[in-house]
Amino acid sequence: MTRPQDVPIRYLKGIGPKKAKSFASIGVNTVEDLLYYFPRRYEDRTKLSSISKLEEGQTQTIKAEILAKGKRQSWRRRFFSIVEIAVGDETGKIHCVWFNKPFLLEYLKVGETLILYGKIERYGERLQMSNPEFEIVSKEDESLSVGRIVPIYSLLERISQRSLRRLIKNCLDEYLPAVNDFLPYDLRSRNDLLNLAQSILNIHFPEDFEMQRRAYERLAFEEFFLFQLPLAIRKAKRREKKGIAHKVDEELLKDFIAGLPFKLTQAQQSVIKEISKDMAKQEAMQRLLQGDVGSGKTVVAMIASVIANQGGYQVAFMVPTEILAKQHYEKIKSFSNKFRLSSGKGINIGLLTSSLNKKEKENIYKEIKEGKVNLIIGTHALLEENVVFKNLGLVVIDEQHKFGVGQRALLPKKGANPDVLIMTATPIPRTLAITLYADLDVSVINELPPGRLAVKTMHLSEDERKKAYVVVKDELKKGNQAYIIYPVIEESYALDLSGAKKMYGELKSTEFKEFKLGLIHGRLKQEEQDEAMLKFKNKDIDILVSTTVLEVGIDIPEATCMIIEHAERFGLSQLHQLRGRIGRGSQQSYCMLISHSQTEGASERFSAMVKYSNGFKIAEEDLRIRGPGEFFGSRQHGLTELKIGNPLAQMQLLKRAREEAIRLIESDPLLANRPNVMLKEKLLQRFPEYEKLIVVG
Ligand code: ADP
Ligand code: MG
Repeated sequence: MTRPQDVPIRYLKGIGPKKAKSFASIGVNTVEDLLYYFPRRYEDRTKLSSISKLEEGQTQTIKAEILAKGKRQSWRRRFFSIVEIAVGDETGKIHCVWFNKPFLLEYLKVGETLILYGKIERYGERLQMSNPEFEIVSKEDESLSVGRIVPIYSLLERISQRSLRRLIKNCLDEYLPAVNDFLPYDLRSRNDLLNLAQSILNIHFPEDFEMQRRAYERLAFEEFFLFQLPLAIRKAKRREKKGIAHKVDEELLKDFIAGLPFKLTQAQQSVIKEISKDMAKQEAMQRLLQGDVGSGKTVVAMIASVIANQGGYQVAFMVPTEILAKQHYEKIKSFSNKFRLSSGKGINIGLLTSSLNKKEKENIYKEIKEGKVNLIIGTHALLEENVVFKNLGLVVIDEQHKFGVGQRALLPKKGANPDVLIMTATPIPRTLAITLYADLDVSVINELPPGRLAVKTMHLSEDERKKAYVVVKDELKKGNQAYIIYPVIEESYALDLSGAKKMYGELKSTEFKEFKLGLIHGRLKQEEQDEAMLKFKNKDIDILVSTTVLEVGIDIPEATCMIIEHAERFGLSQLHQLRGRIGRGSQQSYCMLISHSQTEGASERFSAMVKYSNGFKIAEEDLRIRGPGEFFGSRQHGLTELKIGNPLAQMQLLKRAREEAIRLIESDPLLANRPNVMLKEKLLQRFPEYEKLIVVG
């Protein structure tokens, strides 16, 4: 029998070229695609109300016959037409009116039967529905539209709800027998999953809501499972390859830690334990380190670096911006300048960014190649071909979300399967993290260094801007510093946005004329950016006017206040990242969000910002507000393609799918066993790019 995935949709009865085109526009090309075109919602038409039992004020569904129809003009507004019909069943009569839909008069025919869905109104004796949703039911498809739970689909051009339902029903009748379940039987029974044919049938035409729920669960599981499988395969592959078993010299680490200007938090200590355990293993580490802004990830990375350096291995530390690279370079240098490896030598730290001149670059390339540099900190300049390591033993990637998956994968290739530590300040709930990044292990720093006060966050309207300026001035008088952030460099009349450049000029000659202002944005030359940053750091600048180039990682404890203009333009995670630039010392910090226009999403984001300071909480809110597709963006593997599974709402199901994927791959890494053959085929159909992973082995 022909498989549904091999049959183009135009072979179905009732689908001509035009309809086929409508379907193609939403990615439905084959019979299988159509079977997977799931309803948007359902209407319970098992218990239709009889007209005599209708209740005023309720939204109800009835089935009734058209008794009479007519049209009238509104006497209040002259060009306002009203189509009115009277419908009835055995128990009574009700009127339905539609405003300004004159074509309905032609469309609706006396004697036809309708399903009507709407709110019941009563005017004296007269029952009425205004603008009800309706469907004409004909004898032949009454079975699909009445007396059952009825699927409601997202509508397509040229295809009515009714004909879509009929089409899918025909398709089910013809092809359901050809649907084979590709999930192995024992997996299904272990997880009490409905089989595929039953699931597809019940997602479209559910027997009852319990069956609909089970169908939904099975199809969501299937999606999660297919999404987890390649990750599980990749993880297993990694296990096979030999990595570096670093020797962890506990005494030496104690030494290093004792030399730090602070005491490590409990969370930092336990994360360091996890990392050093990983590094000691022969298997290459792939660990994601999640920690809120300011939680102290850099020093953790530095300690991992000491472990690698002690054994004679080099470390590459990649960050997204030049400013950040310099800051890390300086900080890490200050942490380690007195420190000696057991050989008696210090750690030689290098900095590589694209703004170095040719000579400087060549110098550093040479030192990296000869192994003279132990730890190289840099931007994506590290990815260049000229960068060749003597023996790369550890790769650290900071602020991972700023790099594409491809970029992240490049750096480790410069060594022989080095350990990899990936750091992110956009934390997500742990269960979600370990499932979404199933090929990574996850560590979490869930605590800030002691003495940090939560940043006080306020949401102000434009009229209240003066209040923000008062706060800033108070702070400046105490000797502290401030950021003022704008969404764009140049002002935009079209979008009604003020820009950093113009406002910098304005603020420094008016409101803040007795203070020193600096400007930084992405279109300045690198040297100019660095100079401004350096001046701010050295306190030659009181207020730094900036765009979002500031977003990542900048660490200046005396900066205690921040104004974000046009705050409605920023996403929640982005606002949180920006706010993370302040509140880094022991003083109270203030963040003032100024909004210029009110949109609904924005006020939700602001209240989250005011209420929460914890990055995990913020990320959860962000996920909730935006939904997983938007939140993870297109860069993340396949998540945006989930049709039915919702990783937030179905975390347990996702977890089970992950466990099953790992279990399966452990027992059959190439999916070569008989019960898994169909699964393999399905996996390759969905993700052809994984061919290499499974077929070649
Ligand atoms: P992030 O996790 O955002 O990258 P950083 O590593 O930049 O945070 O650390 C933020 C600041 O906190 C830095 O100034 C760092 O030196 C400092 N810091 C890190 N760990 C501690 C600690 N345990 N106690 C006090 N300060 C710390
Ligand atoms: Mg950082």
